Amino acid sequence: MQRVKKKQTPSNTMLLSKAIGFVLLTLILFFIWDMSKTNMQAADQPAKLSASSQFRDTSTSMKAKDASRKTLDAHFKINSDKHITDQTIFLTFDDGPSATSNQLLDVLKAHQVKATFFMLGPQIKEHPAAVKRLHQEGHQLGLHGITHDVKRFYQKKDSPVNEMKEDQRILASVTGEYTHLVRTPYGSTPNLTDQQKARLKQKGFVYWDWTIDSLDWKYKSSKYVPEVLNQLQVLETKNPKEPKIILMHDQPATAKYLSSLITQLKAKGYTFEVLDETMKPLQQ
Ligand SMILES: [Zn+2]
Repeated sequence: MQRVKKKQTPSNTMLLSKAIGFVLLTLILFFIWDMSKTNMQAADQPAKLSASSQFRDTSTSMKAKDASRKTLDAHFKINSDKHITDQTIFLTFDDGPSATSNQLLDVLKAHQVKATFFMLGPQIKEHPAAVKRLHQEGHQLGLHGITHDVKRFYQKKDSPVNEMKEDQRILASVTGEYTHLVRTPYGSTPNLTDQQKARLKQKGFVYWDWTIDSLDWKYKSSKYVPEVLNQLQVLETKNPKEPKIILMHDQPATAKYLSSLITQLKAKGYTFEVLDETMKPLQQ
């Protein structure tokens, strides 16, 4: 017995070290595979990149959705003024207005396309002329809060509603219009709590997320255009009845390549509409 045991001890140790070696090798291989996958995503798999990204305004993009509930009909049938089909695109611009707004508005005007702007209070104060212009030209007014700081915006049960109320007041002081259309910074998931949602609803605010994340804030180049077209194709294939709401930002590169994006969307047969308070919002 003793002799057998003696023989087993080194053999067990060897087995154990082999097993550890194998696990380590597997982990290293998985890590390498995961890294190369992440690098490829920027070009090939935008949906996965968006879903895993920790950056701003991307937390919920292209998340698996309940297609049975979030159909176009559910969102838009109550609004008879609009002709919403599965070929309707909603362009949305966050974080403005800015020195770039006029350029965005020029492009939209040239293409006779209307968009929705979710604007920040301090930016509105800084660029009131741009806000007046976009309002006059028929674009949709929306609110994006004051601080755009996750820790501050989502800090207390009333902080989101308070920021939106202040933003609403600032926007109304420029346009005369009190909008309740809202997009919370970084999207509603995972930061907005049930209590905060209830407070917003109590005050009549309707918050919207998105289904296509252009990643324009990250690319700051023409790359956001194929990104949108790729994600649009994924959406068309997987969830054709999902509203096509594109998240973009009021910034120079976005304005620069917006004409190219709109031209390509039109060539594919898409038309454009704005969001409004009568629609059932898309919330992730
Ligand atoms: Zn934002």
